[in-house]
Amino acid sequence: MTDLVVVRKEGLYCVPGQFYIDPWRPVDHAVITHAHADHARVGHGHYLSAKAGVGVLRSRLGEINIDGLEYGETISRNGTKISLHPAGHVLGSAQVRIEYRGQVWVASGDYKIEPDRTCAAFEPVRCDTFITESTFGLPIYRWSPQQEIFDGINAWWRKNAAEGRSSVLFCYAFGKAQRILSGLDAEIGPIVCHGAAQALTEVYRASGVALPATVMVSDISDRSELKKAIVIAPPSAAGTPWIKRFGDYSDAFASGWMQLRGARRRRGVDRGFVLSDHADWPGLMSAISATGAQRVIVTHGSVATMVRWLQQVGLDAGAFDTEYGDDADEKNDAATIPLQTGDAATGSDHA
Ligand SMILES: [Zn+2]
Ligand SMILES: [Zn+2]
Repeated sequence: MTDLVVVRKEGLYCVPGQFYIDPWRPVDHAVITHAHADHARVGHGHYLSAKAGVGVLRSRLGEINIDGLEYGETISRNGTKISLHPAGHVLGSAQVRIEYRGQVWVASGDYKIEPDRTCAAFEPVRCDTFITESTFGLPIYRWSPQQEIFDGINAWWRKNAAEGRSSVLFCYAFGKAQRILSGLDAEIGPIVCHGAAQALTEVYRASGVALPATVMVSDISDRSELKKAIVIAPPSAAGTPWIKRFGDYSDAFASGWMQLRGARRRRGVDRGFVLSDHADWPGLMSAISATGAQRVIVTHGSVATMVRWLQQVGLDAGAFDTEYGDDADEKNDAATIPLQTGDAATGSDHA
């Protein structure tokens, strides 16, 4: 049987369907799994994504020629059947299911298993071949239930507010920021968003995701209010004049990489909260086994370790060399992101 998906210089290509999945170079037909910058780029002739992701893609890429597909809805292209299924990663994220002559392939994009309030929950899709990410594909990565992390963030915020200090929480503006907002206890004080996070938060609200009220720093005239505030800001805001206006603040970083002590130290923040929008090791394992796939192809992350492990458990495992895992939006921040975890792991900036 011939492969339904191969790697070309432009990106992952569905041969019979004649379209690309998250291509990194401009193409005519692109199916986009989600709007993080390493998966969704400008310059394609036509875009197809989950309907829930259209708003975010437009807000990030501007005027694009895009069609939205409901999750589970099927369309045909050159004899292939294409459908999109929730990946549980960020608003509008989808796995791409391709069926051709009885053969089914699923490309996952990025995914996480634990449901959150800001996007549709991950749905396992049966297939013959599963193309998976492996951002946190090492057995050391095991996430605590998100409510525990939210409780930790609220307790840290409450303590800072009681001591008259604002709480600055660095996290990626798309996905992570909104998921954290969904878990904040708005009773503690005002929630201030950096412009980058605020814009995307508005897109989430427009899509019907309920989030607590947020303000921009310019909306706060009473300086004493700032001392009780939590500030949601992208990592690139660290050290800027914008952040200095909060005076004596406590800062924290929320990312899956915070599980590594070295990463916390390199970040130079007071606290690290281990929260990721990617599956941890047990999550990757359960997702892969739920597909029933005999063949698994690993894209970005701990590729070598993951492939070795999958081969040991008897699967036909291989890798695709891709350009995922490097969110251009956060590039100016890359110098402080931990890129090595002792294996072949590379840092995904939106982890
Ligand atoms: Zn992503
Ligand atoms: Zn990614």
